[in-house]
Amino acid sequence: MINHLSAQKNLAKHRLPVHSHTETSWQTQLADTINDLDELLEILQLTELKPSLYVPKNFPLRVPRAFVNKMCMGDANDPLLLQVLPQRAELSSVTGYVADPLAENIHNPIQGLLHKYQSRVLITVTGACAIHCRYCFRQHFDYQSNLPSSQQIPAIKYYIESHPEINEVILSGGDPLSVSNRRLIQQLQVFEDLAQITTIRLHTRLPIVIPERLDRVLLDYLTQSRCQIVMVLHCNHANEIDKHTEYYISQAKQAGITLLNQTVLLQGVNDSVSAQVALSQRLFAVGVLPYYLHVLDKVAGAAHFDLTEKKAVELYWQMLAAMPGYLVPKLVREEPHRLFKTPVNLYKVY
Ligand SMILES: *Cc1c(COP(=O)(O)O)cnc(C)c1O
Ligand code: SF4
Repeated sequence: MINHLSAQKNLAKHRLPVHSHTETSWQTQLADTINDLDELLEILQLTELKPSLYVPKNFPLRVPRAFVNKMCMGDANDPLLLQVLPQRAELSSVTGYVADPLAENIHNPIQGLLHKYQSRVLITVTGACAIHCRYCFRQHFDYQSNLPSSQQIPAIKYYIESHPEINEVILSGGDPLSVSNRRLIQQLQVFEDLAQITTIRLHTRLPIVIPERLDRVLLDYLTQSRCQIVMVLHCNHANEIDKHTEYYISQAKQAGITLLNQTVLLQGVNDSVSAQVALSQRLFAVGVLPYYLHVLDKVAGAAHFDLTEKKAVELYWQMLAAMPGYLVPKLVREEPHRLFKTPVNLYKVY
């Protein structure tokens, strides 16, 4: 009851027509991310970290201020900070870590469309993201030459129509919510017009890093859609969901969207049973169910986040013992030529 009342109070506060200093529009926040290493280190009072860091050219530092606000000042091991900090360790090339670990290029029949799994296609709506996660498997992906321009839309429609086994469209990227509502809704309409499509899924990290992105225009559109709408959030740590984030996620819940989460298992960020339990419980408390726990894709520059499969499996057994089944995400790895995300073998003898 108390929660309900305070939620209503929040609602009133956030419905104020004028943007106060506590609420900046998502467009402004997206345009005003922190891209300068010195600025980030100064805000967090961590300037002494400088020598272990570098300034990447191709996949630069990028982090929304709202996400930085969830970090602990002065903590060099903050689990949110570690996800965005360009460490010099990225520069050493490690055997087995490559630019395109999923060999996605071969499942790419049309620019902007990936058809790897039988019943669903993945559309890379944009290459842009609000945040640059250092472990990202798409950090070397050539988006420029692989985005669906409006000219591609008829080809994508035709492709789906000639594959009647497809019933789900996944909008991904990049982050599909980093484009304007107008562009996004235009795309959604294309897929809603195809009778064979029953489900539209959005894979996004934006509600976690700039929660205001779940605005009224978008949520109202998704509510009235004839399709089932699934939003798969990407949250790696319980600290990523503060009160403010919780409020906007609850708005999405109320809009009738099925909310799931995927996490990447990351050394130093969430590789303990306590971190995983806290994450699952926090997600559940805000109406989100854990879906996948991905072991790291072996992308060049991310080796420092990886843990051995043996460690991942040991952790997973502990998670199974500590939580109800519905709070334990599926532990999977993506293998280039498999037609589904592969469950990690829990019974392998090391
Ligand atoms: C992950 C992924 C999907 C979705 O897989 P689900 O198991 O349905 O979540 C679809 N297509 C591609 C190319 C993917 O990488
Ligand atoms: S938000 Fe997702 S796609 Fe974008 S950088 Fe992070 S992991 Fe990669």
